[in-house]
Amino acid sequence: MTLVLFTTLESEIRKQLELAYPEEGCGLLLGRVEGERKIVVHAEGAKNNKESERTRRYLIGPEEYERISKLALSQNLEILGIYHSHPDHPSRPSDFDRDAAWPWYSYIVVAVAKGVSKELTSWTLASDRSRFDVEQIERE
Ligand SMILES: [Zn+2]
Repeated sequence: MTLVLFTTLESEIRKQLELAYPEEGCGLLLGRVEGERKIVVHAEGAKNNKESERTRRYLIGPEEYERISKLALSQNLEILGIYHSHPDHPSRPSDFDRDAAWPWYSYIVVAVAKGVSKELTSWTLASDRSRFDVEQIERE
């Protein structure tokens, strides 16, 4: 699968995650699947519901998840994955991210250094859950 990310949406994601700095920001990628392409059409920011350590952890709680699921349904979109930031850390998923990950979802991770977004990468969980593989991003 390839993740198709319009540059306007990429900017939107980066802006949201910069605003969350120095905490981790997060949200859900909504869109459509066409053949081997996951096309992102909306990036819905979510509240980081983690009770502590929000500078290095995030949690999308059940209420936020339900709110965004309903939004997706009402617009005939699917949840394609999750994006979140790593404040002052590389855009590489952590072991914590891997343990919490679901198969098939795309996981966009953005490094935000001193409040400025840097590298953006996308990952998918290997079917045996042992690792994340880099997912190709097609920018349009
Ligand atoms: Zn992470």
